[in-house]
Amino acid sequence: MTTTRTSTIVMKFGGTSMRDAETIRKSALLATTSAEGRPVVAVVSAMDQVTEHLLDLGEAASQDNRATVYNLMAQVRARHETAAKAIGHGAPESVGAMLDRLDRLVAGISAVGELTPRSKDAVVAVGEMLSTQLMAAAMNCRSFTGGQAGIVTDEAWGKAAPLMDLSLFQLKQTLQPVLDKDSRTVVSGFIAQTQHGVTTTLGRGGSDYTACIIGAALRADEVWIWSDVDGLMSADPRIVPGAKLLTEITFAEAIEMGQFGAKSMHPLALEPAAEHGIPVRFRNTFNPSSPGTRIAVCWLSEPTEHPEPEIVKSIPLLKSAAVITVSGAAMIGRPGTAARVFESLAEAKINIMMISQSVSEAGISLVINKDQAERAKAVLERTLMRPGVARAVTLVDDVCAIAAVGSGMAGHPGVAARVFGAIAKKSINIIAIAQGSSELSISLVVRADQAADAVRVLHGEFIG
Ligand code: ADP
Ligand code: ASP
Ligand code: MG
Repeated sequence: MTTTRTSTIVMKFGGTSMRDAETIRKSALLATTSAEGRPVVAVVSAMDQVTEHLLDLGEAASQDNRATVYNLMAQVRARHETAAKAIGHGAPESVGAMLDRLDRLVAGISAVGELTPRSKDAVVAVGEMLSTQLMAAAMNCRSFTGGQAGIVTDEAWGKAAPLMDLSLFQLKQTLQPVLDKDSRTVVSGFIAQTQHGVTTTLGRGGSDYTACIIGAALRADEVWIWSDVDGLMSADPRIVPGAKLLTEITFAEAIEMGQFGAKSMHPLALEPAAEHGIPVRFRNTFNPSSPGTRIAVCWLSEPTEHPEPEIVKSIPLLKSAAVITVSGAAMIGRPGTAARVFESLAEAKINIMMISQSVSEAGISLVINKDQAERAKAVLERTLMRPGVARAVTLVDDVCAIAAVGSGMAGHPGVAARVFGAIAKKSINIIAIAQGSSELSISLVVRADQAADAVRVLHGEFIG
């Protein structure tokens, strides 16, 4: 985009910042006061745990499991109605109407006895639609769903890909006049729509992605991601209580961390901000005076204030991973097999997080997200299992991927040896390993029940 930067701040409030009326009010106050007079777009996630409840609700409805449907619906209704009542400003009416719509949607799914990816998105999107109404009431301003604001996607329900140029154009057209007039607005994170106006979702953790897309569209000053931790940490603080706050990291490092599950971030969340040069800051709603983590606008190079960068800055953990191995003696020395593997997965829109090939060339192992594993296996069987190509496609899905991330490891010998030495001392078996050619991370796959230990060992080895 060629437009000049505006002074707008895009702020995303995660589920923990939208837990109840009190945290929503706190978030609304931050949105209206912390930008020091600059225009603000608040992007909101569903209330904490509501996405999970809606996913279960859709599933239970499709099985006509009435007791579960009744319980989940009652929980979702009670939380939103209580918050709406406390917030006021028209929230009870708009929230009530939306909950009634959810009731009808669920009744429809029960009647048909089937939950299609499209209807699943319709159900799960209600979480962000509801929280948006609450935030708009608390901020006393206009609101939009992601689709109304201008984000259009393909029809890959559950993990839809934005049609980026069109979305950026439409977002600017819709939001800029509202900001010029009112200087604040709310947009639902995570949800968008197809070009025909059907609701889609961007994939789990997608609200961060929405915020960065809007930041890019408006050429915002900064994107702030408010959550319940001080910023991006050197590891998940629930696994490593002594995890350290990273005050400044590069986009390349942050994106690598996101790919490996740090903060359950959407793997593409930061790309639009990185591409359009919009700085991103992670901040704590419950400790706003903390400086948070700033993602500096520089690509592979280290931020200048760190003349001696740490070799490894963080140890993210991707919990729901799976390893798929394509094997067969006929693959040895046969050019093009790897290309066919990658092409067929790319066509099926399956993201590969790690690749390793044994030196014998008799097997290629890929690490992918667990929820895409069965589909990936079917695709690979269809395209590769035939005489003279692959003999077997095997799947191990009770695994986690762990990475040691840091741009300081580039050209620094011995990092891999330290990673594997530390893991071996704990007698943890490594299922697969990989290093990206950018030397930004070394990643490994271990059994799920050994993953937390492996993270702690690596954190102790490199970070302390
Ligand atoms: P939100 O609801 O705000 O989107 P998320 O659930 O996406 O929040 O992520 C916040 C949680 O992510 C934190 O409470 C923390 O436990 C966890 N987390 C995992 N890895 C990291 C990390 N590297 N840095 C910070 N938090 C992390
Ligand atoms: N509510 C969605 C989720 O839980 C999106 C988000 O929070 O970013 O995945
Ligand atoms: Mg999140």
